[in-house]
Amino acid sequence: MIIILKPQATEQDANEILDKIASLGLKPLYMPGVERTVLGALGDERKLNQLHLNSYPMVDEIKPVLSPYKLVSRDMQQHDSVVSIAGVQVGGGKFTVIAGPCSVESEAQLFGVANMIKQQGVPLLRGGAFKPRTSPYSFQGLGLAGLQLLRAAKAQFNLPVVSEIIDPNDAQLMYDYVDCYQIGARNMQNFRLLEAVGKQDKAVLLKRGMSATIEELLLAAEYIVAAGNPNVILCERGIRTFETATRNTLDLNAVAYLKQKSHLPVFVDPSHGTGVKSLINPLSRAAVAVGADGIIVETHLNPKEALSDGHQALTADDFAQLMADLKPFINAAGKRL
Ligand code: PEP
Ligand code: MN
Repeated sequence: MIIILKPQATEQDANEILDKIASLGLKPLYMPGVERTVLGALGDERKLNQLHLNSYPMVDEIKPVLSPYKLVSRDMQQHDSVVSIAGVQVGGGKFTVIAGPCSVESEAQLFGVANMIKQQGVPLLRGGAFKPRTSPYSFQGLGLAGLQLLRAAKAQFNLPVVSEIIDPNDAQLMYDYVDCYQIGARNMQNFRLLEAVGKQDKAVLLKRGMSATIEELLLAAEYIVAAGNPNVILCERGIRTFETATRNTLDLNAVAYLKQKSHLPVFVDPSHGTGVKSLINPLSRAAVAVGADGIIVETHLNPKEALSDGHQALTADDFAQLMADLKPFINAAGKRL
């Protein structure tokens, strides 16, 4: 339920109502805005009837939040959320590029890519240390050694890092090495994992499951926010369809829809979304046009030798072209890099 206060309501008026909400065992939410303050009550909304909030002089309107996801819904918060990844702003008029290899493979590989993207003005480095692979015989990532390389690359190039977490028990360990936890498509509904990152105060890049509906993605985000971490970035990374020409079908409907229904930043992963190198550039431009707040892209200086996803990795030249081609689209969208 959301409770919209009159413009002249004071903080004291708000607190009085918040205390009453809490006394019913509901979770009170305080959302001061520029013009008005909005309050929320999460839990069994029927209990709220006991308060007769309509008769409070400072209450203007009471509206149910109809969507099953509440905290991440635009009904609850009209303005866009801005998420910080170690001081790098995501959302709120920025278009942010995250780039790097699929997997961390070695110091030379990671530092080479980090240096290349840094020269392109990219503010955030990606790289998997724990890789959830379809086959148990594929490269599974360097684990802790990979995290150590990520931390070293961050220090050397001043690039905060994004890396995938696949085990809830790794949340503490990874906290010291990464600036943003990535939840991969295969784990979008791993609820213990969502709760584990929900208890941290670092950003979470939540990828859509390959067969997940948009509502399921938003409910997965709701798990993280309900556990206490509001710093969630949604990521469309392609879904499974009948189409086989591309690895996945990048669902750009979802991006526009998510921007309307949720206040969270929305990213696009055109690398996994297409799985086709030559399509990453056009689909990145489409992502900007449809309202995405950023992209996460796989890059490798020598894709032929990559231990994972080499077929979709952009080389330094491809990446430079992508950045150049994106700029006019970002300007046209009224955003800045
Ligand atoms: C990745 O980012 O390398 C990855 C495994 O992505 P996804 O979970 O979207 O497949
Ligand atoms: Mn990958």
